[in-house]
Amino acid sequence: MDRDRKRTKTVKEIKVDTRKCVGCKACEIACSAFHATPKFSSINTARSRIMVVMDETRDIFVPIRAGEYTEAECNGRNRYVIDGKEYDECTFCPASCPSRSAFREPDSGLPLKCDMSESVPPLEKPMCVEACTFGALTYEEKDEVRTEDEGEKRGDIELAYEVLVKKYGRKKVMDAFARLSKS
Ligand code: SF4
Ligand code: SF4
Repeated sequence: MDRDRKRTKTVKEIKVDTRKCVGCKACEIACSAFHATPKFSSINTARSRIMVVMDETRDIFVPIRAGEYTEAECNGRNRYVIDGKEYDECTFCPASCPSRSAFREPDSGLPLKCDMSESVPPLEKPMCVEACTFGALTYEEKDEVRTEDEGEKRGDIELAYEVLVKKYGRKKVMDAFARLSKS
């Protein structure tokens, strides 16, 4: 088998600069309108795939985009201390998870995940980025050349990771990876 066959993949990324975020929630509004049925017929930020975690008294605004669904909540949770205030791991977690209502379709309860505002024809940039006039969200597209073998390996690793997360929970798996990387 020819292991060196190459293919180009377009990698889409939204970068977040929390220092520029002012908590206006225009990103949440735009995302929820984009995902209304029919499109742009209503606004309900519970339908948004981006959520801005806010602590106005400390000027902390952190936009989080919805990631993968997880079947089990984490067993143990890390704590983050920012400017002397404690936040639990769930606060900044991007997962749709049984332990909370964030990132769930309000009518059906189905998990939500960011789809980069997929649309036909495609948008120039995702809705949330377009709506963010403060420059906290920026969109990047780059072409990555990968050998097919690399792509397959990466796919296998992602699949194995998802299976482990389903079985043991994300926290245990991340802790195990951290231990292995130190050993
Ligand atoms: S890229 Fe699109 S789907 Fe993802 S959070 Fe932004 S507006 Fe929502
Ligand atoms: S639109 Fe931009 S500045 Fe406003 S809350 Fe969203 S990320 Fe922050």
